[in-house]
Amino acid sequence: MAIKASVRERVRERADFACEFCGISETDAGGQLTIDHYRPKNKGGDNDHTNLIYCCPRCNQYKLDYWPTRPDDLQLWNPRLDPPTHHFLLLDDGTLHPLTEIGAFTLRRMRLNRPPLVAHRLRRIRAAEETRLLTHYCDLVRLIEQLLIQQTALMEEQQKLLHEQRELLEQILHNREKSGE
Ligand SMILES: [Zn+2]
Repeated sequence: MAIKASVRERVRERADFACEFCGISETDAGGQLTIDHYRPKNKGGDNDHTNLIYCCPRCNQYKLDYWPTRPDDLQLWNPRLDPPTHHFLLLDDGTLHPLTEIGAFTLRRMRLNRPPLVAHRLRRIRAAEETRLLTHYCDLVRLIEQLLIQQTALMEEQQKLLHEQRELLEQILHNREKSGE
């Protein structure tokens, strides 16, 4: 039985329109992605939304209908149950490092360190770093601006004091001149 359009839409939205395995978005892929049955239909999986994962065609192609059948078969990471940080560590070079057995198996099986994905992650890392630097720079400029405003206020205050001082001195001089008459 085909997946209902409403369920498909729910799965898309829930995944924020990106592959739940590798993070590639519809915008990155240039079109809608596919719906994967975490437990394949031919291995007893159903069309319930809890068994459906939004998945890019490439990840789907590597996953196929994998399902552990023998006792020592490994389980694939289920992005519906565990966050990626549970199984993978993102390194500065854009590669994923496995933290668990499930992570290591999923990395191998789904080729999650395939070069275009690593390049994609590197681009994201660099963009995030640029944003961080720009935010920092913006904070600095704001700080300098505030300092200048404070400095201007201080200078105005100083000017006022000098003015008062001058008036006082002039008054003293005037008084002296008067008393010397
Ligand atoms: Zn993917």
